[in-house]
Amino acid sequence: MLKFPENPEKSKEKAKRIISKKFKTPIFAPYFQIVMSTPGTVAFHTLGCKLNFSETSSIRRSFESHGFTTVDFEDGADLYVLNTCSVTEFADKKCRYEVRRALKYSPDAKIVVVGCYAQLKPEEIASIPGVDLVLGAGEKFNILNYVDNLVKAPGKGLVKAGEIREVNSFYDAFSFGDRTRSFLKVQDGCDYKCTFCTIPKARGRSRSDSLENVIANARKIAELGVKEIVLTGVNLGDFGNGTEVIEGIRPKKEATFIDLIKALDRVEGIERYRISSIEPNLLTDEIIDFVASSQKFMPHFHIPLQSGSDRILKSMQRRYLRELYRRRVDYIRKVIPDCCIGVDVIVGFPGETETDFTESYEFIKDMDVSYLHVFTYSERSDTPAASMPGRVPMEVRRERNEMLRILSQKKKKQFADRFAGTVRPVLLEKDSNTDSLWSGFTDNYLKIKIKAENREENNIIQVSLGSYDPLTDCVTAVPAEDLVIA
Ligand code: SF4
Repeated sequence: MLKFPENPEKSKEKAKRIISKKFKTPIFAPYFQIVMSTPGTVAFHTLGCKLNFSETSSIRRSFESHGFTTVDFEDGADLYVLNTCSVTEFADKKCRYEVRRALKYSPDAKIVVVGCYAQLKPEEIASIPGVDLVLGAGEKFNILNYVDNLVKAPGKGLVKAGEIREVNSFYDAFSFGDRTRSFLKVQDGCDYKCTFCTIPKARGRSRSDSLENVIANARKIAELGVKEIVLTGVNLGDFGNGTEVIEGIRPKKEATFIDLIKALDRVEGIERYRISSIEPNLLTDEIIDFVASSQKFMPHFHIPLQSGSDRILKSMQRRYLRELYRRRVDYIRKVIPDCCIGVDVIVGFPGETETDFTESYEFIKDMDVSYLHVFTYSERSDTPAASMPGRVPMEVRRERNEMLRILSQKKKKQFADRFAGTVRPVLLEKDSNTDSLWSGFTDNYLKIKIKAENREENNIIQVSLGSYDPLTDCVTAVPAEDLVIA
């Protein structure tokens, strides 16, 4: 049985010793083995989106407030929590891989799997050797109640995943500590019925935090010293069931997304906000105008398009046609000329002919957008699209993906080159690969890297921009104060 540590401070000290790399030398190996078996250490691994990261971070804090100590995955924990994703390709393989990796570092560890994939395929996951517990969408935030009595499963792991239609409570979450920026969850679930998507089945109906609680969380994040918040959700623009309000089905009673961003704009201490992604039908002119006028909401929109062919959009059951998307892009360019505009596209959706793809490609090529996220369609069981006729051969899907990837590189370069020689603000962030560099994004989402020396993380500095380097996917940059004026 896994127990909470009796003396959290003592446990923390031991965990620190585990983290200290010197204890990994052979001479300390026997001691290391003993320390590893101490109850009360936990390690996490997150797959998927910003929402999952915010939720893992909140789950981690609740473990820590109950006396557990978080250690790195490789340092051997008593308990591993894997937060899975169903959108990721090969979700099953990735989950199996992480379970094996956890057991390699800590053979007796207990393993709990949560997240979208856990809700969709709980029995499958419970059968993975080494998995002790699978928690669905309604149970994952009660994880502490389960691990208290968790015993190592001799065979198949235990499953606690109810029907997704019964999941209707909202659990707030925000990330802190793992990254410089904080991902703040304000909405969950989705009521749309896009025919390729498993998310509504994994996360349930659309529901939101209250405006008051979001503001309270933003204040907490500001008190922690964070300067940039990324608003996250499954269908962010639907905050407060905004779809119904925008489509005129229900009169406005509660706060919708525009009310939310106006209120957040007034929170002291937070200097930058980004909207992680917003459906084109929900991105109203009012929202665009507000972002244009705000000092805090960054000039950056990520807007899923999925296809530039109306025939395919209809088959996907998206809630707009391509002209609406084009109007959004044109209006953004009109009121925020420097704005970064990112686009999600799916290639190889069932029935996508060469003509449909060419139409889609030309549509995107002609729009003034800044980068693309290209997804190759893959069949997901229990979705209407999986049984649609017109399956596109995998090699054709790959070719189309490659064409759009090349188009994305061109768009990135064209967008970045507009700003060569200009000065823009960047928030300095940890670089995941090295300590000698900071990475960061300009207000309009151009990625840069600069030498870390003499500069501190979480500072906003002015940088002079050079050209886009496709090898690093960054724009060359020099801190403006280092420029020598000849
Ligand atoms: S809007 Fe469509 S693609 Fe996005 S989560 Fe909802 S159903 Fe899935």
